[in-house]
Amino acid sequence: MTTLGAIKKENPENSSSSLPKPLIYNFGKPPSSSVDHSITHTTSSVSRLAPVKGSGAFIWIQDPTLKINGSKTEQIYMPNGIPANLSNKMIKVVYGDGTPVIIPPDANNHFFYNPDDPKQLRKFDAVSLFCVVQQIFDTYQKLLMDWHQQGGFGWEWWSDKGGKPLTLVLDANAGKADVMNADYERDNQCINFYHFANPNNKGTGNPGDPTQIIGTWRMTDVIRHETGHAICDRLNPLLLESESWQTGALHEAFGDMNSLFMLLQDQVTCKMVYSYSFGNLHNDSFFPDLAEQFGAAVGLLRGLRSAINTVTLTEVLANKKEQEVHFASQVMTGAVYDILSDMWDATKQNDTNDADTDRLRVAGNHLMGLVAIAYKQAPKNATFSDICANMLRLETDKDKRQIIANNFAKRGISTTPTATVTTTVTTTATTTAASSLAHSETEETNKTKKVGMR
Ligand SMILES: [Zn+2]
Repeated sequence: MTTLGAIKKENPENSSSSLPKPLIYNFGKPPSSSVDHSITHTTSSVSRLAPVKGSGAFIWIQDPTLKINGSKTEQIYMPNGIPANLSNKMIKVVYGDGTPVIIPPDANNHFFYNPDDPKQLRKFDAVSLFCVVQQIFDTYQKLLMDWHQQGGFGWEWWSDKGGKPLTLVLDANAGKADVMNADYERDNQCINFYHFANPNNKGTGNPGDPTQIIGTWRMTDVIRHETGHAICDRLNPLLLESESWQTGALHEAFGDMNSLFMLLQDQVTCKMVYSYSFGNLHNDSFFPDLAEQFGAAVGLLRGLRSAINTVTLTEVLANKKEQEVHFASQVMTGAVYDILSDMWDATKQNDTNDADTDRLRVAGNHLMGLVAIAYKQAPKNATFSDICANMLRLETDKDKRQIIANNFAKRGISTTPTATVTTTVTTTATTTAASSLAHSETEETNKTKKVGMR
């Protein structure tokens, strides 16, 4: 979370009482109901818009509280379109209350819904969730092709001939008690996104209003973390079956790193990272902090976790309490974040903003692939050292190998693979093969084996 520049949080004290404000669109002027964007014109043979194959949509930039350049939403384009039932071979959005998902597009097959209109919010949320997850899937599909991985990509439960899509349950606890979490469940082939009461709520009377409830399906960091669990489970199903706390921590780190790497897929966001960090990833900015709205709701200033941290394996090994998987995951996420920073610094030329911004995107993509394959090739009870060793083996550039080795060494992580791990997971792991964004004290006590956000 940051207050730098034009990025600022809405004050919950004020936002709940103020009237919905018009959206400010920074990434292209959206079609509106008052403007005819159809390709049929009676007065001219020239249309304003060329026919498009895909669909445009508005999504949350990060969550309902974070605004960038005055907007909390952004316009995106999905080149393969958006199905009106938000269901395809890979993913399927469902409402937790069982209502069928039917999201009508406009005449041009776009999905420009307004989250400030209570009648449109639910549709906006569903479209946003679908698009964010589809983008993750598309990214990994291409990434694995780039790394010459065989066999295509799907979900853990897929056979070679395919299988059920990953179900995304929007408001999985609709009408039920609060759940401060989101979780990935392999057995049920779904990700559950829950809601909980907004502690800063003053009440607007609008059902589902973001000022009244905090919906984890509205946070792109949470969506990417949970989908990261699903991706990781496909890359290496053994990891979710391990009893090792280090392996559990690696699964959590994969989710957090996925949130970071996905931000760098978007060149506009890369430019913002460049600008708001003043060209140095170790400066405070929105980029390293994870799930800011969630963190604020539980009294944390910089999200649930931050990739800027100094947690070492040595420290975690010395304190059993720190072997909680989410805390311990910061060792891996922090090391990889520092590697990203150093790899970018090594290529920066301070020539033009755009060129250095693109070098950040390139460094992020390279590291994303390296991490994914390192996880894919890790043993069941993988340790931080195993991932380090795999990354060193996979990296062909001598200077980059040195950067990797240096940063893992700083975290107290050996570059030698570890044969076995005898300690068991201290809190959350998986018998039901589930992972969540957060875990409660109850889950901790019962060892329900969920992997989550906290
Ligand atoms: Zn998790």
